[in-house]
Amino acid sequence: MTKKEKKTLAVSIVARLREVYPTAECALEYGGDPWRLLVMGRLSAQCTDERVNIVCRELFRRFPDARAMAEGPLSEIESIVKPCGLYKMKAKNIMDSSRILIDEYGGELPRDMDELLRFPGVGRKIANLLIGDIFGMPAIVADTHCIRISARLGLYPESEKRPEQVERILRELIPPEEGADYCHRIVFFGREWCTARSPRCECCPLSDLCTKRKREG
Ligand code: SF4
Repeated sequence: MTKKEKKTLAVSIVARLREVYPTAECALEYGGDPWRLLVMGRLSAQCTDERVNIVCRELFRRFPDARAMAEGPLSEIESIVKPCGLYKMKAKNIMDSSRILIDEYGGELPRDMDELLRFPGVGRKIANLLIGDIFGMPAIVADTHCIRISARLGLYPESEKRPEQVERILRELIPPEEGADYCHRIVFFGREWCTARSPRCECCPLSDLCTKRKREG
């Protein structure tokens, strides 16, 4: 497939996903609070969004803002976030990030990628989530759903699993203003139709666009 054909395919996929999921919402229920999205993004590594949402109800009840979390105690944060896995590192990361946000940024999240990457535990996936959702700027969140499904659809080879490479490819193919919403929609699409182990290809609303489906019949 030529680059031009891939761009055309990407635009068709974006349009179809928009039809299937008219609203594009973040699966993490952060209530519009940038700090909460940073915390939830960190907790979501190797954990489901559903579990993060449940855990954070208690976490934000006990620590309602960055200032409260920056003061800890760490042991209490650890015990609340334990169900998310990797809890010691995650608890330390979100407490340290809260302190940095207060001490170095006056509580205002920076909108620059390099600045966001300074926060402990924040990689490009979380930084893109913040840039797209909070600041409304072009962003590609190359998470597990996005990597798997964009490849199956034919935007790059299925052997490509490197998040940074996927982000770079999708930035060239997806219209910039659609990037963040594409990634939100693909999460819901991945759960409902194109699951990792048993994709429901027979009745999938994107089957006529899907390269994997065409290849495997
Ligand atoms: S046709 Fe199958 S592999 Fe292709 S996007 Fe749909 S569910 Fe996924």
